[in-house]
Amino acid sequence: MVAYRAARVFDGASEEVMEDGTVVVEEGRIVSVMPAEDLPADTEVVNLGDATLLPGLVDAHVHLVWSASAEPHALVESESRALTALRCANNAGLHLRAGVTTVRDVGSTDGLAIEVGRAVELGVLPGPRVVAAGRAIAMTGGHGWFLGREADGPDAVRRAAREEMKAGAGCVKLMASGGVYGHAEEPGSPQLTTEEMGAAVQEAHKAGRKVAAHAYSPEAINNALEAGVDSIEHGSFIDQATAKRMQELGTYLVPTMSVYAAMAKKGPELGAPEYIQRKTAEVLEASRDAFRLALEVGVKIAAGTDCGAPGHPHGTLPEELRLMVEAGADPIQAIRFGTAAAADLLGEEVGTLEEGKTADLLAVAGDPTRDIGALRQVRLVLRGGVEVTSNLF
Ligand SMILES: [Zn+2]
Repeated sequence: MVAYRAARVFDGASEEVMEDGTVVVEEGRIVSVMPAEDLPADTEVVNLGDATLLPGLVDAHVHLVWSASAEPHALVESESRALTALRCANNAGLHLRAGVTTVRDVGSTDGLAIEVGRAVELGVLPGPRVVAAGRAIAMTGGHGWFLGREADGPDAVRRAAREEMKAGAGCVKLMASGGVYGHAEEPGSPQLTTEEMGAAVQEAHKAGRKVAAHAYSPEAINNALEAGVDSIEHGSFIDQATAKRMQELGTYLVPTMSVYAAMAKKGPELGAPEYIQRKTAEVLEASRDAFRLALEVGVKIAAGTDCGAPGHPHGTLPEELRLMVEAGADPIQAIRFGTAAAADLLGEEVGTLEEGKTADLLAVAGDPTRDIGALRQVRLVLRGGVEVTSNLF
């Protein structure tokens, strides 16, 4: 039994920050969260000093096969799957180093992220827990078909969802609209139909898995909501009525603001294609407005980065949370979006510091509940009770 003691402990779910608190860990689980003064005298203590202990972060939208290059999908197509798998492994480590102990991979070539998740569980690879969609499901020629699979008609989409789950997918990803990376598509244009998505949702929910839908415009978002998905990814062009509907249904929004900020900043110097740069500019401001609207209407929000995209490396969840604060969230709210809320969306027993939960812990210097930038000052990361930071730095 080990007690981690820090000047502040934030449990990821409440509004409260405990001063001089401890998180007691035994056999990979959290035994208790208590003030240091209540700790039994003989407990072994790791004193972290002027630091804040919080749950390991959860990134609800990553692509482990992509490595933040100008055209990550072109790179994947140009190299062997073995090399891509090694990139995935390296990318997984980048998350852990940043204090991200759980990720949801929403689309990987050949379902490679499923294997990364397996390797992590087997102890072959240091990395975060990976909830992987395997191959994303798109209509023929639809968004991201190159990192997913194509399916047309409800029966084919149903079969695609079943096959991904058979391969080990822990969630299902559907492309409900065009996006920023394709040539002959616009982010707002609807793609998979309500009937097609409904078939996949039915299969996923039967198997106890969640469904994420990539959607930008109100029309595409509404198609996905009608089909019963659990989260809308991006959602940048959402309107008031659609936000209200999401709030009523309890559907999560994963706004991915940091990917547009990163691509707008680094796209030109990386030499990202013109069509990506143009569409990024269109979405950048819209994504902030969408986040503010969701906040105002009370839509459930989970943090995700879309990292791996051009100029947006893995392990950048702290930047997404910083942008949330810049757009009007308070730091405690932003941390909840990147811990408890994201874990709830994934259906994983992590994201809070509570008795009985898996001991995924992050300690940072300073106080991120006041200054969100402190999340970058990682002191310690525990994954399932095991200290992983020392293996990585
Ligand atoms: Zn994505």
